[in-house]
Amino acid sequence: MKIPLFRPAASAEPMATRLAQALAAVLRSGTYILGPQVQALEARLSALLHGRETVAVGSGSEALLLAFKSLGIGSAGGGDALDEVLMPTYTFVACAEAVLGAGARPVFVDSAPDDFLPTLAHFRNARAPRTRAILAVGLFGDPNGLPELAAYCRDEKLLLVEDVAQCLGARASDGIAAGNAGTWGDAAAMSFYPTKTLGAAGDAGALAFRDPLHASKARLLRNHGYHDGQHHCLGHNSRMDELQACLLNAALDDFPDHIARRRAIAARYLSAWADLPIRLPPDSPGHAWNYFVVRLPGPRERETFAARLAASGIATRIYYEQPLHRHEALQPWHGNGALPHSETLAGCSLALPLYPMLDDEEIEYIIGAVRRAAATGA
Ligand SMILES: *Cc1c(COP(=O)(O)O)cnc(C)c1O
Repeated sequence: MKIPLFRPAASAEPMATRLAQALAAVLRSGTYILGPQVQALEARLSALLHGRETVAVGSGSEALLLAFKSLGIGSAGGGDALDEVLMPTYTFVACAEAVLGAGARPVFVDSAPDDFLPTLAHFRNARAPRTRAILAVGLFGDPNGLPELAAYCRDEKLLLVEDVAQCLGARASDGIAAGNAGTWGDAAAMSFYPTKTLGAAGDAGALAFRDPLHASKARLLRNHGYHDGQHHCLGHNSRMDELQACLLNAALDDFPDHIARRRAIAARYLSAWADLPIRLPPDSPGHAWNYFVVRLPGPRERETFAARLAASGIATRIYYEQPLHRHEALQPWHGNGALPHSETLAGCSLALPLYPMLDDEEIEYIIGAVRRAAATGA
């Protein structure tokens, strides 16, 4: 059996045929950018995010950049060049690019010893007089810690930006309040890159804001600062096209089912592998399970394990090969200080296939192959 790391729902019949018809209708309409499909998508995303105003943009990376600029963080958004943003080091590079692109400074924070995400204490310890904002990344789909971070930011008068690229569909609760990922911060950046929980067939992203004024700023920024004959500010070309919006509107019909299916597969993996000598991801409540990332004892064991799975036809991938502070391009912003837990994670993490399009037979096949690969000794 051959199992890729990811298989898009839109590629399978009869969905592909249905989508082809919808796309043909968009092509015939002659409206290709920021039209009715995009408007409908913004309304539907807004409903998913408890009524927050949403703005469709070109990609998740641009959504992050526009989030910081719209909130006035960093010199490019009318803030200060010395504004600091606390952010995890164990995440995707776009997070740091956005902070720097907005004209602010990233301050990298380590992961917790037993988790991929930093804890509140990690952010608290990194807090300094120049700290303006925290970037919370729901890595792999895990919304854990959002309520606590939101309360901390409120008390400390810091802005909270959520990167929900991997955790759209997740739900967080502190026992009193509950809310979807993307509704805890001042702004949330979404990505619809094909492998995300809500995927397009190309690049696309969106923003959601607590304050509609920030949403208006993002609406200007995505289209060259233009409104009603005036360029009110200098902006970007970060417009979503109608074809992607059309696909995303269709994907939203299946979104609740797909998140439920991801959770069911994760639950199956967690119970089937509980006795194996690999570390399973934390079973956080409300997890969206965009990726299922296990930890091996070390790089050598990971290599052997991945090779055994590859021999069984199962694709795996390392997220992430290095924490951000270890990349040459970002070292000037960090120096040589160790963030040891993130460095350990980079040497032992491995993502296994988990997506709604896996059928039961494939899931059982993966379960058996992982059991054999982990049990044969490293
Ligand atoms: C995918 C991703 C992004 C960037 O989204 P794009 O749509 O690929 O630009 C940002 N942050 C995280 C955590 C991501 O996983």
